[in-house]
Amino acid sequence: MTGHFGHPDDREERSAAQVRALEALLIEKGIITGGTVDKVLGYFESEMTPLNGQKIVARAWTDPDFAELVVTDTAAAVAQLDLPIGMAGAEGEHLAAVRNEPGVHNVVICTLCSCFPWPVLGLPPYWYKDPVFRARAAREPRVVLTELGVPLDDDTEVRVWDSSGHSRWFVIPQRPAGTDGLSEAELARLVTTESMMGVALADAPSPA
Ligand code: FE
Repeated sequence: MTGHFGHPDDREERSAAQVRALEALLIEKGIITGGTVDKVLGYFESEMTPLNGQKIVARAWTDPDFAELVVTDTAAAVAQLDLPIGMAGAEGEHLAAVRNEPGVHNVVICTLCSCFPWPVLGLPPYWYKDPVFRARAAREPRVVLTELGVPLDDDTEVRVWDSSGHSRWFVIPQRPAGTDGLSEAELARLVTTESMMGVALADAPSPA
């Protein structure tokens, strides 16, 4: 068993073998071709990446109107930015943002499976699909956040958002202190995927 949530060591290999077997079967039956999976994966790996989410967060940190819009009408806010075509396409339907603020920390999970805002955050990390993580983050989010190194004081309310095909949540983390002089591009680099899932804070700026 390894990691925070006690996966068996060969869990990823076993799952990869199942995926390879399924892909081979689909090719054999003529449902997909040999290049189909690579093409789809390549699109999500090169276009639909956390860079998109980083730009959204950096804009929200620098533009109060945008910060308001991104939580009230996420699709409209996303459409204002220069992001790849297809942001509202596959796995990008019903994007919805929630904003961390003093006293409120948001966390995103999918209790049923692994629903995730792919166009904003890229492909979900492996542990996001882990049944133990999904169950524990719903039942005892404070404990899980503490284990993951997210400092929360007792007064901070933790809100857990359950993603589904109808709402693909992501988090606008709080802007770190000491970032007043930074450009939007510099701010974007402080925004990690984990911070947009609520399991980390945005990075602190490196000392000048
Ligand atoms: Fe799901």
